[in-house]
Amino acid sequence: MSLVEIRGLSKCFGSNIVLNNVDLSINKGDVVAIIGPSGTGKSTLLRSINLLEKPEQGTITINNKEISFTTKSSKEKLELRKNTEMVFQQFNLFKNRTALENVMEGLMTVKKLKKKEAKEIALKHLEKVGMSDRLSHYPRHLSGGQQQRVAIARALAMEPELLLMDEPTSALDPELVSEVLVTIKKAAQEGNTILLVTHEMNFVKNVATRIIFLENGKIVADGTPKEIFESPKSDRLKDFLVKIH
Ligand code: ADP
Ligand code: MG
Repeated sequence: MSLVEIRGLSKCFGSNIVLNNVDLSINKGDVVAIIGPSGTGKSTLLRSINLLEKPEQGTITINNKEISFTTKSSKEKLELRKNTEMVFQQFNLFKNRTALENVMEGLMTVKKLKKKEAKEIALKHLEKVGMSDRLSHYPRHLSGGQQQRVAIARALAMEPELLLMDEPTSALDPELVSEVLVTIKKAAQEGNTILLVTHEMNFVKNVATRIIFLENGKIVADGTPKEIFESPKSDRLKDFLVKIH
């Protein structure tokens, strides 16, 4: 059994079919990159896994536990979300909390750890992303790259089964992209299971174990970086790869 099993997932916004019967299995330790043109449902797929969208059809199972799209109970949502953590394009840190407090927050409120224990774990993860010298900084006093590294530390500190990342470097100035990619690469090498949307093709080539090409709400190609880049089977994938280079 895979860690994540998505079966027949469909989602519309009005008459716009954004996800069209998507099947996807992800194994533990996979680093899956989703690529594809803008507006093809990449974010919607990630957001569905994290219960931020409500698909009309299909099932998502994580670690044999089916996610209920219809649950209204915030307690149940919180429980289901313990399996996944999401890193967003716009960092989404708590503005009125320091870097350290940002990482401690979920450990205390969701995992119910004592302050001392939460702090220990937070410090360890902030060190890993190279942020030990910015613990007391508020987000507004951090660069975009630093904020995103704190966001990654915050996500990893929760030890999610699956880490979702939606274009984590797209909002960054070009010179700040690599510091964040280095952090993601490290997380991948440490065995985290990651589902990542990105346009950083070199990164995808070097770090992803698997690439999925999503177009018009359908998975058009699914393979290793070698298969996708060296012998793309679909014409649409070929076109996309030419355009993005
Ligand atoms: P991608 O991440 O691949 O760029 P999205 O998943 O964000 O694409 O969006 C897919 C489609 O769904 C787009 O046409 C977008 O306009 C539409 N969409 C996304 N969110 C909403 C929403 N909340 N309401 C209406 N349409 C939406
Ligand atoms: Mg998107």
